[in-house]
Amino acid sequence: MDTATSGLALLENRWEDAHAATLSPEALLLYRSNLLGSDKRVTNYGGGNTSSKLPMTDPLTGEIVTVLWVKGSGGDIGSMKLDGFSTLYMDKLLQAKALYRGPEQEDAMVGLYPHLTFNLNPRATSIDTPLHGLIAWPHVDHVHPDAIIAIAASADSRRLTREIFGGTIGWVPWRRPGFELGLWLQEFVDENPEARGVVLEAHGLFTWGRTQKECYETTIDTINHATAWLARQSAGKPAFKGEKVAALPPDARRAVAAAIMPAIRGLIATPAGDGKVATRIGHFDDSPAVLDFVCSQALSELAPLGTSCPDHFLRTKIAPLVIAFDPAREQASDILPRLAPAIAAYREGYAAYYQRCRRPDSPAMRDPNAVVYLIPGVGMVTFAADRATARIAAEFYTNAINVMRGASAVSEYRGLPEQEAFDIEYWLLEEAKLQRMGRPKPLAGKVALITGGAGGIGMATARRLADEGAAIVICDIDREVLASSEAALRHSHGPDAAVGLWVDVTDEQAVVSLYADAAVAFGGIDICVSNAGIASAAAIEDTSLALWNRNLSILSTGYFLVTREAFRLLKQQGTGGSLVLVASKNAMVASPGASAYCVAKASEVHLSRCLALEGAPHGIRSNVVNPDAVLRGSRIWEGEWGDQRAASNRTSREDLERVYIERSMLKRGVYPEDIAEGIAFFASEARSGKSTGNILNVDAGHAPAFSR
Ligand code: NAD
Repeated sequence: MDTATSGLALLENRWEDAHAATLSPEALLLYRSNLLGSDKRVTNYGGGNTSSKLPMTDPLTGEIVTVLWVKGSGGDIGSMKLDGFSTLYMDKLLQAKALYRGPEQEDAMVGLYPHLTFNLNPRATSIDTPLHGLIAWPHVDHVHPDAIIAIAASADSRRLTREIFGGTIGWVPWRRPGFELGLWLQEFVDENPEARGVVLEAHGLFTWGRTQKECYETTIDTINHATAWLARQSAGKPAFKGEKVAALPPDARRAVAAAIMPAIRGLIATPAGDGKVATRIGHFDDSPAVLDFVCSQALSELAPLGTSCPDHFLRTKIAPLVIAFDPAREQASDILPRLAPAIAAYREGYAAYYQRCRRPDSPAMRDPNAVVYLIPGVGMVTFAADRATARIAAEFYTNAINVMRGASAVSEYRGLPEQEAFDIEYWLLEEAKLQRMGRPKPLAGKVALITGGAGGIGMATARRLADEGAAIVICDIDREVLASSEAALRHSHGPDAAVGLWVDVTDEQAVVSLYADAAVAFGGIDICVSNAGIASAAAIEDTSLALWNRNLSILSTGYFLVTREAFRLLKQQGTGGSLVLVASKNAMVASPGASAYCVAKASEVHLSRCLALEGAPHGIRSNVVNPDAVLRGSRIWEGEWGDQRAASNRTSREDLERVYIERSMLKRGVYPEDIAEGIAFFASEARSGKSTGNILNVDAGHAPAFSR
């Protein structure tokens, strides 16, 4: 167990004068913002904002006017570009003060901001704009450092702020962001011209400066000062009152996560009409900071208090759900029966909180399920609409853990009062922000596992399903191609879009482990594409037993193992699912000189029919896609198979594709993307939710393969 402030290392000053000297004033603001936001100890993802008041030429009058450049709504100061700033005429913003009618009407001020826009900038203005505009300093930073929020969320944060900073950094009581808070800050600055910043109770830090560099350095110095003070105060004290249970070893932690994540995923899935189910994506975190907290004496007392900084609880909900578990005496199987009642109780508690706090015009209650699940000895599981949001929720809760660690070492930690939390969560302006986010992609919240995912058809399928928003597990026996395929998917679809897992589909234990790893990576699966394969050709009398067995073990036994384990996981989740078996034209039509391959492929089709029968009562569908002659991108055709097929068609390898096109009824080539399209159809509940036990040939037309 670490001491109370471990993890809060001092920040280095990364300002480079030589680089800064080359930048325009607005580029310098972006430089300052990116420097600050790229370190998560300064501010959490998407949290905080920066501003500068800069002289600019008015496009209408040609005169020099002062323009407030302030991070706009949404975005992240660490990764934003110049177009992430909104720009407002400062003189008009100050004039708008005259229109302010008091706290009850402060939301109405937001409707005025578009009228203050400089140079037709389309970036939506943030609700934090007046917090920057009304502070009479040229440059202002607002960030959410764990060390400062630890002080801001302490029971006696005002006294602590004074003790730590003297008069240089002031203190303002909690008030949600908006025009009123802007006026409070303006008053503070006017009355305290010597102050260089202010701690906002339960929320974060504002700092300012005459130059960009001074502002940046004040922010860094202030955070470091608080960090060092916290370290001194808590030296030698155990974090969170010491350890209550010991953390399990890493493999055992992952095993528990693998066992419970699909169960939680199933329990928090919500009906989406006409038999469809909305599922979420999970993320597992057992980092040292998380383990310290979930193994501690203080877990049961601190977790229900919830988080303090509004950014934290908007992402993590009002409080986490702690799942009872004694890692010294119990197994994962002891947790499973506890999940349903614990999740139901959380939902009831959330609904009661909504009823207690709702205002007459509050938006309807949102999903009442927890986002954060804490398991003593094991770690933290988070669930959200997509992987990035689940991972970011875990990052935010880790921020909250750091805050609780610091605050409870020097004082008593306080969450935000319930009504204040509700008013932020159900703030009409937050609702408007959610509405602006647009419709999710068709497969958002779904996880697709694709065997042979590093191959031609597998990779085209991964891309196609990722385009539709599914989280992707590609698995393959070829480690090298798997690694490059995973990297390519992450490059094209984002770092959270895909994981690559090694598997040999003929190895029972490897397949079992594959699904456990997939459960830890994303919380479970919804779509299984059984596709890993080989091809071989040999006349019957030349077919060795080894060749026969190799075909059967990969194409028949491999498909059995992969779909059986998928079936078990889908049944445990209880949210239905789609199995898509990539067989072959040769499953329908015997080809001369390829008996082992044809027989193995035919068995896949019959396996799919059996799975369709057994799966139907559980909403698990099973369908077959039959490719034929997909030469481009396929590694099967690069090997012997290509030579043999060329020989048996009495042509060269180069000419083979033309021969197949000529043979097809439609006289067209078949490509990996065409097979992926068929797979995507069966993967989608919306498009094929009422089809099971079917066969789709994607072969440009081949009459002998017609299914009947
Ligand atoms: P491919 O060789 O490009 O991809 C197949 C992938 O499966 C490869 O990455 C390979 O490493 C992997 N694999 C092989 N054995 C494995 C094992 N034991 N465990 C895990 N992974 C393994 O070939 P493709 O054309 O993309 O073929 C995909 C599927 O489509 C196969 O089942 C194949 O039989 C079927 N198919 C292809 C064609 C075609 O013309 N390309 C025609 C009919 C059927």
